[in-house]
Amino acid sequence: MIVVLKSSSTNEELEKIVEAVKEYGYTAEVVKGKSKTIIGAVGDQKEKQQHMNLLGQLPGVEAVVPITQPHKLGSREFKNDDSEFKVGNTTVGGQNLTLIAGPCSIESEDQIIEIANSVKESGATILRGGAFKPRTSPYTFQGMGEEGLILLRKAGDESGLPIVTEVLDVKDLDLVCKYADMIQIGARNCQNYALLKAVGKAKKPVLLKRGMSTTINEFLLCAEYLLAEGNMSVALCERGIRTFETATRNTFDINAIPVLKEKTHLPVIGDPAHGTGYWQYVSPIAYAAIAAGADGLAVEVHNNPEIALSDGGQSLKPKRFAEMVEKARIIANAIGKKI
Ligand code: PEP
Ligand code: MN
Repeated sequence: MIVVLKSSSTNEELEKIVEAVKEYGYTAEVVKGKSKTIIGAVGDQKEKQQHMNLLGQLPGVEAVVPITQPHKLGSREFKNDDSEFKVGNTTVGGQNLTLIAGPCSIESEDQIIEIANSVKESGATILRGGAFKPRTSPYTFQGMGEEGLILLRKAGDESGLPIVTEVLDVKDLDLVCKYADMIQIGARNCQNYALLKAVGKAKKPVLLKRGMSTTINEFLLCAEYLLAEGNMSVALCERGIRTFETATRNTFDINAIPVLKEKTHLPVIGDPAHGTGYWQYVSPIAYAAIAAGADGLAVEVHNNPEIALSDGGQSLKPKRFAEMVEKARIIANAIGKKI
């Protein structure tokens, strides 16, 4: 349920309402909006109707309304305005078109520094790179681990870009949090509820990638695991789903973008690299994602994709990335966003 406060309500009243919400067995998430303060009260209590009546009578309360969607804190019912949050020196969401770019995997100091500087120059706002890689085969490159995190941090600091990197396992979370500005939860872990809960508690911004067989409603509930831990800095990433089609690695679900934008206030990022699997299709799908309303893109860029240790075939060369950004800027401007 949502407890809507009167515009005249005091801080003291707010505190008392939050106390009551918790006493009845709900978690309380306070959102101070432009015109109104609301409290999201989430929990599965049998006496919900009675609690709603009691809360409605407290001083400072204007109304108590149920949230009808299964996803609560992420829903537009809970918060109608688009969410924005900081990742290092950049803002994700709102009018900003976030450009996440970098290699699939961090491979060496020269590689990540060169890519970081070139994507920054082209307009990227967040540097990506995997140090813990979820590979289909255990015999392929698994990532550089902590050494990779150190290099990614260095490349981020030298280029002036905040960094995002994937965490695969709860046991590595503290380590990844030590270096990263934003935590990526990959497609294969989208429904790993233990990991979601742990990352929710870590209070770092999160890039949550859609599982390859996760429906949109399931995806929203995965995000809810992070939000329910009090972490509201979550961006959702459409990265393609499994279909019968084999001409591309995945099928980028363009529908998911307007559907998610309708159902949630969280920023939505499109990943046309994993969404297609081929560099030739990355830019066209990137443009489509922006036109469909995405708040940003996540793109793989490699200075030498032919010898990349992972996902070379879907990686743009720095020059192609620069060209893509120029066209993306025109589309972003046309729909009221800025790069
Ligand atoms: C990645 O971003 O390199 C990655 C492994 O993505 P996904 O989890 O979407 O497959
Ligand atoms: Mn990849």
